[in-house]
Amino acid sequence: MIRPPIEAVIDLDAFGANVTHLRATVGPARLMVVVKADAYGHGRVPITREAVRRGIRDIGALDLESAIALRESGLADDVAILAWLHQPGADFAAGIRAHIDLGVSSPAELEAIATASARLAQTEGHAFVAPRLHLKLDTGLHRNGATAEVWPQLVTAAVDAERAGLVRVHAAWTHIAEASEEEDTLALERFLAGVAVARELGADIRLRHLAASSAGLRRANVRLDLVRMGGHCWGIPSFDGVTPADIGLVPVMTLHAQVLGVRTTETGSASLYVGAGYGDGLPRRLAGRVAVAVRGVRFAVVAVERDHLELTASKDDVRALGIATGDDAVLFGTGAEGEQTVRQWGDLTGTLGDEITTRIAARVPRRYIGGSV
Ligand SMILES: *Cc1c(COP(=O)(O)O)cnc(C)c1O
Repeated sequence: MIRPPIEAVIDLDAFGANVTHLRATVGPARLMVVVKADAYGHGRVPITREAVRRGIRDIGALDLESAIALRESGLADDVAILAWLHQPGADFAAGIRAHIDLGVSSPAELEAIATASARLAQTEGHAFVAPRLHLKLDTGLHRNGATAEVWPQLVTAAVDAERAGLVRVHAAWTHIAEASEEEDTLALERFLAGVAVARELGADIRLRHLAASSAGLRRANVRLDLVRMGGHCWGIPSFDGVTPADIGLVPVMTLHAQVLGVRTTETGSASLYVGAGYGDGLPRRLAGRVAVAVRGVRFAVVAVERDHLELTASKDDVRALGIATGDDAVLFGTGAEGEQTVRQWGDLTGTLGDEITTRIAARVPRRYIGGSV
């Protein structure tokens, strides 16, 4: 089969199976699929479409622009899309018109949203739908969210804006470190205390969420009403010492590239050149640390150049396996063809598998298999 020189194959059936498994595991809590950073390099639109086909009704988009783009890709209003990281001057009116759920971290953000709502209510009349808010409390991670001191002020302002018909208070949420059990337990306690405060202040909190992939899979008591997952949906374990299969997951992305050339030397060694490099988003740190599979056999990566990798082999390997220019090299994937997983690549290079898939350059073509698209 003829492939482009480099290609990321995204298996939507594997993704769908992961989502189905994770949903069943975290249930009765709901599963939000977090598709920030173009679904960690997997492609936001096809991934979201497949998630919805598998019954997901909560999508986490990070920023308003990508949330609106997703809505405009044809996502019906029964799918909630949450945007929570707002740049100064964010276009809340566009988000409200697209029925995006809004994360709110401060009284200033709340005021900007209420102002946009008030204007829209005037211009749109009966067509205006007040946006749903997810009020965010900082429980120690300091990655936005209102501090415990500011929280009552934020909640009160939201309740007032709801009474004025400008917003609908929907959820309370926070983000936890997922680093240690003790910290997460403390964050959970702070969060539940914050929810109690909000309810006392008259907020109708219908949904509470705080956990992501790691804690959400490991600990039942942090799931509450909804768990937000990225990493595990792509089959990349987010905690140590397990393979994807150990936790019922299948890696979704397989990265292929062509063997561009084979060079053998008098001494019996050989080099294989593969058409993928740091220009395609591969970390240079892969050199000396990971291996790539050709014809089912792993060869160590010895150099990462801008447009190619060099693998070390022996003349005997090349001859015995019949390796030739144009062969398919599998960089990472499920392991089915002898390759390592991207989680292993992360471990071997001191980063996260998620980071590697996220950094695969936009110019690398994605080919979707399985699913409904
Ligand atoms: C990225 C992100 C997640 C998902 O994290 P994973 O560890 O990939 O599951 C969940 N919640 C928030 C707020 C995030 O930014």
